[in-house]
Amino acid sequence: METKQAFLQLQNYIGGKFVSTKSYINSYDPSTGEVYCKVPDSDKEEVGAAVSAAKTAFPIWSSWRPQDRSRVMNKLADLIENHLEEFAQAESKDQGKTVTFARTVDIPRSVYNLRFFASSILHHTTECTHMDHLNCMNYTMRTPIGVAGLISPWNLPLYLLTWKIAPAIACGNTVVAKPSEMTSVTAWMMCQYLSEAGVPPGVVNIVFGTGPRAGEALVCHPDVPIISFTGSTVTAQRIIEKSAPYCKKLSLELGGKNPAIVFEDANLEDCVTTTVRSSFSNQGEICLCTSRIYVQRSVYDKFLQMFVEATRKWKVSIPSDPTASMGALISETHLAKVKGYIKKALAEGATINCGEYVDPLHIPPNNQGGYFMLPTVITGLKEESCCMQEEIFGPVTCVVPFDTEEEVIDKANGVKYGLAATIWTRDVGLSHRVAKRLQAGLVWTNCWLVRDLNLPFGGMKASGLGREGAKDSYEFFTEVKTVTIKH
Ligand code: NAD
Repeated sequence: METKQAFLQLQNYIGGKFVSTKSYINSYDPSTGEVYCKVPDSDKEEVGAAVSAAKTAFPIWSSWRPQDRSRVMNKLADLIENHLEEFAQAESKDQGKTVTFARTVDIPRSVYNLRFFASSILHHTTECTHMDHLNCMNYTMRTPIGVAGLISPWNLPLYLLTWKIAPAIACGNTVVAKPSEMTSVTAWMMCQYLSEAGVPPGVVNIVFGTGPRAGEALVCHPDVPIISFTGSTVTAQRIIEKSAPYCKKLSLELGGKNPAIVFEDANLEDCVTTTVRSSFSNQGEICLCTSRIYVQRSVYDKFLQMFVEATRKWKVSIPSDPTASMGALISETHLAKVKGYIKKALAEGATINCGEYVDPLHIPPNNQGGYFMLPTVITGLKEESCCMQEEIFGPVTCVVPFDTEEEVIDKANGVKYGLAATIWTRDVGLSHRVAKRLQAGLVWTNCWLVRDLNLPFGGMKASGLGREGAKDSYEFFTEVKTVTIKH
């Protein structure tokens, strides 16, 4: 539904300048379902111009001292932080998340990403070995690679974009970034501060548009040797295929089907509070969200009762409501997809314990066109059900009983994904044993989404390729060389 208001119109940012495009696509406010923004529908030509600007800037930027790159990155972080409220409002309007979430998670973490890599670049060292019997010394040298292509999704727009831009430019690369066409506004806002921060023209270029047009042009550009991608596994498979002829270096952060395992000795109160958060934060639209909860049979009934009660208190409302725990889903299509999974579960004879089709949803009249739904808890599903196997990426979670440690490890590992898992127990030995055997890149015990950016982040199996974090991102965004000298 299109209204007659004046739309916000974004422009690409290429070579330090805002540049118009030939055509635009609509971007919707998920809380009303109305178009509110026009996003450039960039193609090969615009991507080519951005790559060319990045290529020109590379020799200059890569020759800057790390401390100078660090200084401008810190300045950019300060500028975003000084405008935190504007960024939070924009992120919420663009994505449907609550303003509170954007204000406390998305934007502060974006600022921190820049500060973290601005600092970490100052502390890397390289290796050196001596072969005295041969009078030889070996050392490794790391150099930036060139133009990095960065492609990010819609769920945590500025957070995930800066998680790529920061390490890439800290290491001395220049970048062409393509944010999701559905959530482009905060990336465009950030461009307004690049020059003031002192980032030279061409170091950060942002090209807006769709995946098949702008994204694929970036993936297939011969002058972009590295691609860092966060998004769905299906898109990653296409990127692998399209980039193969160029032998590009790829970092892929993909989907998940993350289990929480609740053992009978768990502190159920803490577990329920955190598991509601881990299942439904950001409308369940975080790759790390819990979507399968395995509960040991002796505490299953108690857990389920407490969990359903707590989920019913997880308030769905318009994003500006300060009491809202959840806002709107990203799009009409995504809402239909998520609800479709609940319908499939019903058709399989599952029970909806709370949420969609069971409880009423109260949304104000002006927001009836928005993409809202209730957090939903399903039981009675078999392991092979699509709700238990596929990534739903919405506020839907399935609760299943289990009897033994062996059984639950098999079930937790019985999906194609391997991103994150959560264990709830007071038994330290049990926690270590299970963590070791879970096929997941991240395992939390008695907590969720606690992140030290120094340590590796990423998934196993269909959840990704490579890791991100202080050391891993540094290694990805640089090329290593071993030098041997005989003296
Ligand atoms: P998506 O794969 O549809 O899109 C991600 C990005 O890729 C967008 O910018 C899109 O325009 C672009 N794209 C689409 N097709 C492309 C193509 N052919 N070539 C190049 N680029 C293309 O994913 P999404 O729906 O935006 O995001 C949700 C997915 O992202 C979920 O699967 C979620 O689990 C995953 N995700 C993973 C992480 C992680 O760190 N592992 C973090 C956030 C989201």
